[in-house]
Amino acid sequence: MSVLIFIDQSEGHIKKSSFEALSYGAKIAEQLGTTAEGIVLGKVGDDLRSLGKYGVKKIHHAGAEEFNTLDAQAYTKVIADVAGASGATVVVFSNNVNGKAIAPRLSARLKAGLVSGAVALPDTTNGFVVRKGVFSGKAFANINVKTPVKIIALNPNSFQVKTGEGDAEVVAVNATSGDIRVKVTATNKVTGQVPLSEAELVISGGRGLKGPENWGMIEELARLLGAATACSRAVADAHWRPHHEHVGQTGGSIAPNLYFAVGISGAIQHLAGVNRSKVIVVINKDPEAPFFKAADYGIVGDAFEVMPKIIDAVKKLKGA
Ligand SMILES: Cc1cc2nc3c(=O)[nH]c(=O)nc-3n(C[C@H](O)[C@H](O)[C@H](O)COP(=O)(O)OP(=O)(O)OC[C@H]3O[C@@H](n4cnc5c(N)ncnc54)[C@H](O)[C@@H]3O)c2cc1C
Repeated sequence: MSVLIFIDQSEGHIKKSSFEALSYGAKIAEQLGTTAEGIVLGKVGDDLRSLGKYGVKKIHHAGAEEFNTLDAQAYTKVIADVAGASGATVVVFSNNVNGKAIAPRLSARLKAGLVSGAVALPDTTNGFVVRKGVFSGKAFANINVKTPVKIIALNPNSFQVKTGEGDAEVVAVNATSGDIRVKVTATNKVTGQVPLSEAELVISGGRGLKGPENWGMIEELARLLGAATACSRAVADAHWRPHHEHVGQTGGSIAPNLYFAVGISGAIQHLAGVNRSKVIVVINKDPEAPFFKAADYGIVGDAFEVMPKIIDAVKKLKGA
């Protein structure tokens, strides 16, 4: 019996969301009186032994370079094999793009109950009950998972990263993607920008900005702060911004430390993708805009007057 945690990497570096998943999985292992182990696929530059400080005893590393490009089918096979060999009864993912691609496949392969979007530790006092957000974060459901193997995909920013002492033992896994039926032959990546799914800070614009020609101020503030840019669906649908920037129920779901929304009304479908942000700042000229109810800080004002002042203030602060 063990808890196996999938450790996500991008270009050889462990993603921040994995530190949360590791801390979460280690805590579950403690609850169950067992050990936590991690699994990493692909060639990595980071020191895997040091992940022991998050509470894992062992890291299984399938280091073949072909795994540096995500192929959900190939990943699923390797994770299933390692989960079987290590006797994992709980497998933990981060509920991000990669987790969403792999966890359901693993669930089908292992015939394991899956709770995606978990927001708290399981209650193991009577069964294995995992809490998750439902109805776009408006309510919670407590799911009792009864299968022998349980899979949890943890929502980012739902669990505090905990660190301690100690190194993990790194064990090489001799695996290749092998014979899979559908092969990923190319991936297109947006370069030169902070990736939205990983961003700590996000500056986002809505239809209140009137047109794509006014995105300069969103981009400038993002550049000054090292933030990613995002937008509402109305903006992407109007082709003012590319669709990969659209956040919400039908777009990306993000959980940055700061979400800065400019000229966005705050429709429930938009909030569904951003309401896990730690701090939300809203600029809207309508004091009745629904977004103000979800905001930590709100500025009632015209974006075309407020944004240049904020940009100037940030420049002064940075001495730029
Ligand atoms: C099934 C379904 C799924 C959907 N999925 C999504 C989704 O994933 N993501 C999403 O975003 N939407 C989604 N929508 C659309 C959503 O309901 C809203 O229509 C959309 O979010 C509105 O975008 P907006 O706030 O940019 O535009 P608007 O609703 O037009 O709001 C513009 C806001 O800007 C303010 N404003 C105007 N001028 C200024 C100014 N000069 N300065 C400051 N503020 C100003 C206005 O007061 C207003 O609040 C979905 C809808 C449906 C039905």
